[in-house]
Amino acid sequence: VIKEESRNDYKIFKQSLKEGFKERLKLETELHKAIKSGDFELHFQPQYELESQEIIGFEALCRWPHKEMGDISPDQFIPIAEKTGLILDIGDWVIYEACRLNKKWQDEDLPKVKVSVNLSARQFLQRHLVSRVSEILEETGLEPQYLELEITESMAMSNERYIIDTLHDFDELGVKVALDDFGTGYSSLKYLSQFPLSKIKIDRMFIQNQTKQNIAIVKTIIHLSHALNLKVIAEGVEKEGDLHFLLGEKCDQVQGFYFSKPMPESEIETFLNE
Ligand code: C2E
Ligand code: MG
Ligand code: MG
Ligand code: MG
Repeated sequence: VIKEESRNDYKIFKQSLKEGFKERLKLETELHKAIKSGDFELHFQPQYELESQEIIGFEALCRWPHKEMGDISPDQFIPIAEKTGLILDIGDWVIYEACRLNKKWQDEDLPKVKVSVNLSARQFLQRHLVSRVSEILEETGLEPQYLELEITESMAMSNERYIIDTLHDFDELGVKVALDDFGTGYSSLKYLSQFPLSKIKIDRMFIQNQTKQNIAIVKTIIHLSHALNLKVIAEGVEKEGDLHFLLGEKCDQVQGFYFSKPMPESEIETFLNE
């Protein structure tokens, strides 16, 4: 009986592996098509200075509305894009589009804000990334201080020297770099002091699940950031209570559904006008 059961488990296991594989393959094929026909969109989520509640920028978030499959979440397609290298094309488009739109809003005399773009590890490790970003800024006419890049800790593990050099190059170009999802990866305090970063983003997990431990972690990240002369922003702020807590802890900036969900481009102009 035991044998029969374990054989069944194995069958189920094999079946789900096969389905997972098929689904990934399907998404990969669809990703190729989507890149060709330019099916991606950018949504923008506002970021605020906490004390003044003034808007300081938007995070650009990639969206993939698929005709048959509906909206496919970036948590689903970004890892596949990363594995297959397609992220290089998608990522290049995201940077370009974010800069182009931000410049467009500025040209309409709307308040000037920053746009933050997520970079995947593979993209960041690309030779010529800095010169490509510089080229995009020139082509779109956006000044470098209005672009920010977000990287995650996971990439900091590899190729330390290269990462430090690249960060210095961005610094020279005038483009700020923030460390995203802080606290969830292989955080090393050494990186924080060695990497020329401008901002730490506290992962939303710590804000949304306020256990005693997580509260202690948030407080520590804020104090640590300030000790290292870095700005700190909390992600995933959904409740008024989160806001009071973060104000009390002197967190610099906030982003989350409490203020606004990511919005399509068509809503940004009215939003900035208000
Ligand atoms: P992220 O960079 O940490 O982006 C923040 C995510 O948290 C976004 O999810 C945003 O919609 C969500 N979020 C913001 N505020 C709240 C809140 O109050 N509550 C909750 N529950 N969620 C909130 P999204 O847009 O689904 O993106 C997921 C991840 O996919 C991003 O995490 C980022 O890692 C990746 N991603 C998205 N766009 C791009 C892109 O253009 N390039 C790359 N490389 N990665 C991207
Ligand atoms: Mg991000
Ligand atoms: Mg994040
Ligand atoms: Mg994330």
